Amino acid sequence: MKSENIAAVSTPAGRGGVAVIRLSGDSPLAVAEQMFLPRGNTRVKDFQPYRMYPGEIVAEHFKDFGLCVYFKAPHSFTGEDVVEFHCHGGTSIARGILSRALSLGCRGAERGEFTKRAFLNGKLSLSSAEGLIDMINGESEAEVRAGYMLYGETLKNEADGLQAEITDILAGIDADMDFPEEDIEHTDLSDIAVRLKKLSAKLSSLTASYGTGRKIKQGVRVVIAGRPNTGKSSLLNALLQAEKAIVSSVPGTTRDAVEGTLEIEGVRFNLYDTAGIRESENEIENIGIARARALIDGADLILFVLDGSEKMSEEDEEIYRQVADKPKIVVSNKNDLQGEGGEKCDIRVSAKTGENIAALRAMMLEKSMAGYDTDAAFLIEKRHYDALACALAEINEAVSLCGNVPLDLLGVHLKAAWDKLGEISGKTATEEIINEIFSKFCVGK
Ligand code: GDP
Repeated sequence: MKSENIAAVSTPAGRGGVAVIRLSGDSPLAVAEQMFLPRGNTRVKDFQPYRMYPGEIVAEHFKDFGLCVYFKAPHSFTGEDVVEFHCHGGTSIARGILSRALSLGCRGAERGEFTKRAFLNGKLSLSSAEGLIDMINGESEAEVRAGYMLYGETLKNEADGLQAEITDILAGIDADMDFPEEDIEHTDLSDIAVRLKKLSAKLSSLTASYGTGRKIKQGVRVVIAGRPNTGKSSLLNALLQAEKAIVSSVPGTTRDAVEGTLEIEGVRFNLYDTAGIRESENEIENIGIARARALIDGADLILFVLDGSEKMSEEDEEIYRQVADKPKIVVSNKNDLQGEGGEKCDIRVSAKTGENIAALRAMMLEKSMAGYDTDAAFLIEKRHYDALACALAEINEAVSLCGNVPLDLLGVHLKAAWDKLGEISGKTATEEIINEIFSKFCVGK
């Protein structure tokens, strides 16, 4: 099949040490022949693949000294012939070299077109391409790790395995229906039921892993709650090691949710401070109280702060009741004052001296990311979650119907689940889904 040569600057706009212009298609080397003058004796058309050749890159109105490398199909990123020019990293340099490639017949690449071609040529799956975007867009190390897990096909392999199991069950059902009168061994319904339940369990645990994946992608929402003056703002500052919240010894001064972000072992945590959850005559503070309640409802983790220098008050107990059934860490602050409070606490800290703040961070990670295994498949993309949740619903339907309906009806649900699983790799994804995914890429990727 013919594939048009496309070209784009693959490095970000702006100044830098080097910039890379990438060409991919049927004949990028023929284009390079017209715009690269090698310094050595090897002519461009005789370039060996995967070797860097120094020479002059000839743009429309200037030349730059740089490198040219040829990747031979199918062993290239796109699966096609690819040529890269490595020039000096200036906006006008890269743009000038690109426009020369365009005037020599290349078409400007669309967003993500290189990766889309790689997908269409079977170099990577759809979920692998999504992992690549996650890595590129990732703002924390955990996002990069999670993206790499997808990029390395861990999730796709898992989905493929589940599909293979469904195919196998379907084959048994088909054989049974094709030769109903024959004296072959008929499908054992109880065996099918067992296998379907196993599939259901695997899909359940995969869909459940989206909780972890979502936290990695969006950051763990941590809400600091407690009555005024227990040291919530101070604790927030100690955790962030920055003076972001206003610290005051007058109760009720932290009126708004103050946000700060920190990373614990590469996982992003978004912290929210609350204005003390207490009834008040003060209208502004009441707005804060409503917000605090909403924040607590949406939290992944609560840091419930007590003043360790005092016994728990009725107000403390009241707030404690509100957060009792949420994932939480009860923090007894002001440990430097050697008080007798903090009866129900999980950890004693001092925001003032920094005592146990590192231990609190470790506890926050442990509590919110329990069972997080960086090597296993887990879900970070909503698209994957939706597909697997649908597959799970179909399998569960099949489980409940098993034994009560003709086998071919069971097959309908199994086939639907199979199709949904194929959306992970892209085997059964619609063109619309595929286009949407690649449009999230930048030009040049
Ligand atoms: P918030 O109302 O819960 O946000 O409390 P703040 O962070 O504003 O702190 C209330 C008061 O307690 C301030 O005077 C802080 O300096 C003081 N404070 C906070 N943390 C500690 C601590 O660990 N030890 C001591 N001794 N004082 C603290």
